Amino acid sequence: MSDETTSLLQALIRNAAVNHGTPDSGNEILNVRTLEAYFGEALESPRVTTDVVEPHPGRASLIVRVAGRDASARSILLLGHIDVVPVEKAGWMHGPFSGEIVDGEVWGRGAVDMLTLTAAMAVITKRAIESEQPPLGDLIFAAVADEEAGGDFGTGWIVEHHPELLRADDVLTEQGGVLLDPSRADSGITIGIGEKGRAPRRIHVTGVPAHAAVPWGSRSAAEAASEIVLALLRNPAPPMVLPYWPEFVSALHLDSDTAEALVDPERLDAVLPELGSLAGLGHALTHMTVSPNVVRAGEKLNVIPGEATVDLDIRVLPGQTEADVDAWLRQVLEPWQDVIRISGSEFTPGNTSPTGTELYNRILEVFARHYPDAIPAVGIGPGGSDGRFLRALGANVYGFGLISKRLPLVEFRNRLHAHNERIDLESIDLTTRALAEVVLGDAGHAR
Ligand SMILES: [Zn+2]
Repeated sequence: MSDETTSLLQALIRNAAVNHGTPDSGNEILNVRTLEAYFGEALESPRVTTDVVEPHPGRASLIVRVAGRDASARSILLLGHIDVVPVEKAGWMHGPFSGEIVDGEVWGRGAVDMLTLTAAMAVITKRAIESEQPPLGDLIFAAVADEEAGGDFGTGWIVEHHPELLRADDVLTEQGGVLLDPSRADSGITIGIGEKGRAPRRIHVTGVPAHAAVPWGSRSAAEAASEIVLALLRNPAPPMVLPYWPEFVSALHLDSDTAEALVDPERLDAVLPELGSLAGLGHALTHMTVSPNVVRAGEKLNVIPGEATVDLDIRVLPGQTEADVDAWLRQVLEPWQDVIRISGSEFTPGNTSPTGTELYNRILEVFARHYPDAIPAVGIGPGGSDGRFLRALGANVYGFGLISKRLPLVEFRNRLHAHNERIDLESIDLTTRALAEVVLGDAGHAR
């Protein structure tokens, strides 16, 4: 079974479905064709309905629905994206679209994010179709385009135009099953229950244009923009402790003083650096973050700029609102209030699924078979994923996977969107087996 996942993964990597964020990039149709060929005659089964949607030429998604034997049983959707982010080839030791196996690792863009899990989902779905006994509830496999650019040609489009295709009670998608510290048997193991939201904003700064040969006393928009960037970077928003955070902290096995301080909003920021390589993640999971990333001012060398813009990538925690974003920006940018205007109204709320559901418990049971002493490190994704669209439809969505001890969380996260993305064969095997155990149950047929 895992060999099938490996060769399918290699084929998906080689198709190089690179999403540059432009409508004509991605070309996910190649991966849809590869998956259709992999399923082959299984798609002819009377229990199976297959849909391919293609809202823009080449931007295809494949949805395979296997009818369950009990219409009242919970349905489960396996949601895998088939696009990948671009590469800078010069930084790679082996071809980024080679799918080559070197020292027990499959190399290539998408190996970690998230073609391995997508391939495993296809393998498990094919198993369920070929099994003599149909799954208990409906099993849906969706290989979707455009996750890496917001889902406008993938899950977002499908949910808007054909939500029935993806409707399910439970959903498994990327980012879970990674050990925090593989050197200890009782390491935390990640399970994703949600993700942060987004509120991109633009600050427009007004100055007074003047001749650059006489800069003394000028009111350059570039100067104000620079001060604004520094103010935003040097004044992080105050921490907020949400229910998942103490659970995540307890999975870190810190000394009790540090652990207590980390869940106390008054002391959290001061002890965050003690998390070392996980401090950045810890910060993101406990703060609204404001990252001023695109700064523009000036058109011509001899003109002091009268206008500047600063684009902010703002990520909000579950529960935080647009009003919270506005209030925070007002507070930090108060000294410049007479020279700025803020535009942008896009807002995607942070979102979570409950812990303790039947699927959640089943995932933990399966983790425990492979890592008996590991404890759940419950967390949310600092970035966005397609999971938010399904949570908005009312499904319980969890980040899943099962990764070997060779790839601890810090290293796993370092490989996302980075040079030399690759995954070891043991992680492919673990992910495939664990997914089979969660979805198909012990008997090998769908539960
Ligand atoms: Zn991904």
